[in-house]
Amino acid sequence: MKRILLLLSLFVIIASCSEEKPRAIPLDSAIEQQVEELLSKMTLDEKIGQMIQLAIDVVGEKSDDISQGFRVDTVKLKEVIGKYKVGSLLNAPFAGALTPEQWQEVIGTIQQCSMREIGIPCLYGLDQNHGSTYSMGGTFFPQNIGMGATFNQELVRLGAEITAYEARASNVPWTFSPTIDLGRDQRWPRLWENYGEDAYVNAVMGVAAVRGFQGDDPNHVDSTHIAVTLKHFLGYGIPFTGKDRTPAYISPSDLREKYFEPYRAAIQAGALSLMVNSGSVNGVPVHSNHELLTTWLKEELNWDGMIITDWADIDNLHNRERVATDKKDAIRIAINAGIDMTMDPYDVNFCTLLRELVDEGLVAQSRIDDAVRRILRLKLRLGLMNKNMYEASDYQLFGSQQFDSAALRAARESMVLLKNTNNILPLRRGVKILVSGPNANSMRCLNGGWTYTWQGNNVEDLLAEHNTIYEALVARFGNANVTLCQGVTYNESGQYYDELEPEIDKAVETARSVDVVVVCVGENSYTETPGNLTDLTLSSNQRELVKALARTGKPIVLILNEGRPRLVADIEPLASAVVNILLPGNMGGDALTELLSGEANFSGKLPYTYPREINSLHTYDYRMSEEVGTMSGAYNYDARISQQWPFGYGLSYTTFAYSNLRIDKNSFDADDRLQVSVDVSNTGNRVGQEVVMLYSSDLVALLTPENRRLRRFDKIELQPGQTQTVSFELPAEELAYVGPDGCWRLDEGEFRITVGGQAATITCTQTKIWDTPNR
Ligand code: BGC
Repeated sequence: MKRILLLLSLFVIIASCSEEKPRAIPLDSAIEQQVEELLSKMTLDEKIGQMIQLAIDVVGEKSDDISQGFRVDTVKLKEVIGKYKVGSLLNAPFAGALTPEQWQEVIGTIQQCSMREIGIPCLYGLDQNHGSTYSMGGTFFPQNIGMGATFNQELVRLGAEITAYEARASNVPWTFSPTIDLGRDQRWPRLWENYGEDAYVNAVMGVAAVRGFQGDDPNHVDSTHIAVTLKHFLGYGIPFTGKDRTPAYISPSDLREKYFEPYRAAIQAGALSLMVNSGSVNGVPVHSNHELLTTWLKEELNWDGMIITDWADIDNLHNRERVATDKKDAIRIAINAGIDMTMDPYDVNFCTLLRELVDEGLVAQSRIDDAVRRILRLKLRLGLMNKNMYEASDYQLFGSQQFDSAALRAARESMVLLKNTNNILPLRRGVKILVSGPNANSMRCLNGGWTYTWQGNNVEDLLAEHNTIYEALVARFGNANVTLCQGVTYNESGQYYDELEPEIDKAVETARSVDVVVVCVGENSYTETPGNLTDLTLSSNQRELVKALARTGKPIVLILNEGRPRLVADIEPLASAVVNILLPGNMGGDALTELLSGEANFSGKLPYTYPREINSLHTYDYRMSEEVGTMSGAYNYDARISQQWPFGYGLSYTTFAYSNLRIDKNSFDADDRLQVSVDVSNTGNRVGQEVVMLYSSDLVALLTPENRRLRRFDKIELQPGQTQTVSFELPAEELAYVGPDGCWRLDEGEFRITVGGQAATITCTQTKIWDTPNR
């Protein structure tokens, strides 16, 4: 019946697209006027100089005096800015952190030179992933995967606010964050840099991060906020091979409906710049994709922000992707596709080649003007023309206790209790504990990549004032009760996956004299290509360690500390308790100890599907036909999904019961707003936080529908015995999907709404098809 109705055009409403498109960021006429004034005075070479960004290494050298860190070479700087008019620099010198004071000096010198030589400030960009990546003594929050697991957008906003404050303390006005690719391939080495696998969660957290970093007025970013760069647009998170920077193949429907959604939402929330995916989608390198860069972003969203490449990625159109004959051809393709600034770390020949392309008529002067307008606008929005030097001493809260407490709260809310047989947790006081495993005593493992260094290695001494898991357990349970014997350790000078000769027997021996074994397994830190892997299964040494320790008969508390879900199907049954702490940052050891000791309660939920088998890498919103029962008759066409733990899963020391799901309408159309409410009760005897999640399932659609989609979530705290009504408003149009023809559509027919095990079916009475690319 539903299908027949779908075909009846009489029932189809075509939405009008005649209204004027709203601007993603409101126009500020004073800024626009200033942009035009500057532009009118610039030569072509000056304009092109604004379009290139070099690595800081090009203008300085490492100092022998370690306290100096890095010395700007003023002759080289003058050449780069004076001769080539370079408008932007990036990165930490030789990818190592500096103190805020050193940053002040380095960036201050650059700004003075820039103002003197070209009268336009330099746009300095730095990765600030999970905190002050490259500023010594700064605050480190959980990586985004952990922030996703908190399901607490206020914490994401707070984390971004603190990070922005600390960046400004280092005179850095612009960050390459937040990362809102969807981490939908569990093998991908950058999965943990995102807020999980779901489009809606990444959109909500992306918006929260934009507001936290930039403040509330993107036209006037104040001295405690900085500009964001959304990255890496688009479809970076699902490489076909599972390896970094390799091609993705994404259906047109998923591309628009899921992968684009966080970018659309964050741009409409005022995001000021965006970085492009180094790889290709459906065979087209994104740096060459005019439709995605210009049509989708700049035209459809009416966005006047700035698009930057990723590291050397114009070169890569030639070197890696082979869609350009040489660098000049690559520049032509990328700039015409819509790139405004090239991150071309070590080479200024972009300037000469782009000039030639303009002279030859292969890149229009109007395209150059458009790119430069966007760059100048960003500089003006950041207030850099008026003030481009800040004093570290004006930022007294940098690296403060107050900021660490916020990071501790985030770490606490990010940890996910996956199993707790016979309530082995919380651990009682006085219990004798063996802390084992390679992740037991490592700040590097807690923090992950982008921590003082690109790969997050060599940080133990620098982070010594924070507690590893072992140190935090000692502080809580006492020296006499906590013993460290790791059994397996990483080779810190090798690849992230290298381990030293295991000493499992030693750990087993030690286990005999304790009451419980806390085994901390997972991964050492990595990011990008060095983090590629050949097998998602947890290393064999680590699994052998768990097996051997379990044979002692002592209860095992398995701590997973990893950037992606390494397969643990053979050791999970041996553990009485399992906690996934993801990558919790500097306060991770303390947060875990609070949770294990019962001082705090767990409230994190899995932001991704934890797979059980390598041949079953699914996401929670799999298409219904991925999981089907046995067909009757001669052939068995069943298909099974096998997961270790589902998306959204996470236990607590208390229990919650859901009742009384209500929806204000049984039937609706696209213009309706559904009011959904449910009662949630704390039925245990401890205070606890619960993430209330609202899912929808479209029961029949033109495309095989997904099992379910998360549409809303809210995190609440309940005292024992307390009941709260949680209400959500859900515009019916958010139940729409992108059909095979690329158009958004909401089909007449039934939808199932579920919240915490409660379910209701409601009916859409009229099909609507949008004729605008975004609903
Ligand atoms: C990464 C980006 C990063 C950039 C600058 C690239 O290798 O892919 O995420 O922002 O380097 O450090």
